[in-house]
Amino acid sequence: MKKLTAIVLALVIALSAATVAFAATSVYTCPACGDVIEGEKEFNTHLEKTCPVVGSEGKYKECPYDGCDAKFKSQEEYDKHLEICFYKPEPTIADKVSDFIAGIDFKEVFGKVTDFLGGIDFAGILAKVVGFIGGIDFSGIIDKIGSIEL
Ligand SMILES: [Zn+2]
Ligand SMILES: [Zn+2]
Repeated sequence: MKKLTAIVLALVIALSAATVAFAATSVYTCPACGDVIEGEKEFNTHLEKTCPVVGSEGKYKECPYDGCDAKFKSQEEYDKHLEICFYKPEPTIADKVSDFIAGIDFKEVFGKVTDFLGGIDFAGILAKVVGFIGGIDFSGIIDKIGSIEL
């Protein structure tokens, strides 16, 4: 009985130690690149070395265009470069078309169509059609047809 108690106690201690260790593993978000890093040590290593923005060994972002070997440490510089890169290929017609389509504000267009349809006085049109049909002198026409001698 004493042995079992000891085992249970050891288990409880081990479990709580693990829980404490787990809870103590702090999670950091790098203020420079936004990466989430677990552990203070790892976070410091990230800041000093591996962070792509401020780390000394940070991975460089390379220009994707053929013939250009420009490298950048920040996304901002990289984005800026892509706009002006000398090696940037001329956009193809397909690119232009997709850019054009991407530029269309479908929500706005849809809004306009809805406004247009909403502006049509369907009830008024229907009333006019009904009025027109109602104005036709059907009995007169029938009389006339009936009076035609075949
Ligand atoms: Zn970072
Ligand atoms: Zn480039």
